[in-house]
Amino acid sequence: MERLNHYIDGRTIQPRGGEYLHGHDPRTGQAVTEVARGNAVDVDTAVAAAKRAFPAWAAMRPSVRGRILMEIARMIRATASEIAVLECRDSGKSTTQAKAEIDLCAQYFELYGGLVNAIPGQNINLGAGYHSYTRREPFGVVGAILPWNTPINCAGRSCTPALAAGNTVVVKPSEATSSSLLRLAELAVTRCGMPPGVLNVVTGLGQEVGEAIVKHRDVRKVTFTGSIATGRRVAHLAAERVIPVVLELGGKSPDIVFADADLDAATPSVVRGFLMHAGQICIAGTRILVERSIHDRFVDAMKQEMKKYVVGDDTGTVGPMTTRAQFEKVQAYFEIARAEGAVAEAGGHCAKEPRLNGGWFVAPTLYTGVSNDMRIAREEIFGPVGCVIPFEDEEQAVAIANDNETGLAAGIWTRDLARAHRVAARLEAGQIYVNEYWAGGVETPIGGYKMSGYGREKGLEALYEYTQVKCVTMRIA
Ligand code: NAD
Repeated sequence: MERLNHYIDGRTIQPRGGEYLHGHDPRTGQAVTEVARGNAVDVDTAVAAAKRAFPAWAAMRPSVRGRILMEIARMIRATASEIAVLECRDSGKSTTQAKAEIDLCAQYFELYGGLVNAIPGQNINLGAGYHSYTRREPFGVVGAILPWNTPINCAGRSCTPALAAGNTVVVKPSEATSSSLLRLAELAVTRCGMPPGVLNVVTGLGQEVGEAIVKHRDVRKVTFTGSIATGRRVAHLAAERVIPVVLELGGKSPDIVFADADLDAATPSVVRGFLMHAGQICIAGTRILVERSIHDRFVDAMKQEMKKYVVGDDTGTVGPMTTRAQFEKVQAYFEIARAEGAVAEAGGHCAKEPRLNGGWFVAPTLYTGVSNDMRIAREEIFGPVGCVIPFEDEEQAVAIANDNETGLAAGIWTRDLARAHRVAARLEAGQIYVNEYWAGGVETPIGGYKMSGYGREKGLEALYEYTQVKCVTMRIA
């Protein structure tokens, strides 16, 4: 069984406590790795390394830092097949999906490797006699805590803007999916000229490693991606130390289909919106709001489209749940749906055919007969489960869409340009997609409204997140 250790200060380091956790292959449910179970001492070692590396990294000419990040992007692409094997083993993704996310990770390094030259300052006119300007400076050591659903993509998204802005990073991947990031950090140092200590990976459990990162007195900013419950805990700990946090939390995103939409284009995109990576995506469009006059027709079209999705490992289009806990959670929601009286138009059960080798698979599921107050419509299931909710008119569509405590993303399908902009302005969500769910890329900022969190990642916004503004005013007369 492969043993994974921390990567700190440019070296592989065994956990101080000597303990390891089991990592599982979700495609079979079997234990396949031993993952270092870090503790506060390991975190302290990593933060000390990051603190030592910070002055030189921050003082480096931005274009030089940028070249290192660009080099890492090239290395990620060159080793994509190798990293994909690790990502598939840990998360159960198909090779195609893993490679797409690895490519996204490379894109983050390219984007911020380029943008690093464009971190702006302001000149402030105070009249004759003064020269006043702002500087955007890094915080120092940034702590990053990541989820299991898109490991390498989230790592690129959270760490790269922080690094580009001149911070050094201590990152904790999910205990279920540590392999790809450990490999990336090692390759960054050994092949791409990243100085040791700039990017450090400490593996282990949230309450042991994650909390130790947030509590560490030399960590100056935290970025957390994960569930609302854990985000709340992280925010409490950060508040004790009065340090800023980016919280990228869960969602229950609406995808609104108006009767005038191009239904042939909408159908595959809406279905992909809740089935991609078996629904284990924060911005999955899981509340499908459909105008009443086209409800039955659109449900039929979605059911036809869903037949193209095959449950299975690398050969399938709907992979397993990445963790056993998630597998059990989704099944619990199938029971809740039954109790709430929802109609399973497809799925509603786990997938246990012998060919699936005991992996943590569930069937792609579509519920009708759903009202927005049911638990399956209010709570994030994080599996391949869509709920269809009918609406009468634009007013009611917006009301239903906004009637949720989260606000991460939303989709709008219409041919009416004025309506698209009107509804986009009224929806309470950080990312809106019109006529293509998930339109956008590493350049388009993402973040939560309401309980989906605060702060922004991706795009130029993220670069600003990882800098703090200093204003210098000098008397010159
Ligand atoms: P989680 O909250 O269980 O865990 C996230 C990370 O936090 C893990 O590394 C975990 O070990 C760590 N952690 C757990 N307890 C901690 C504690 N007390 N202190 C510090 N760290 C702790 O979330 P998850 O199940 O890994 O991920 C799924 C969730 O992430 C979903 O809700 C999903 O919507 C969300 N997510 C959001 C985005 C976004 O961009 N908004 C992106 C991906 C995933």
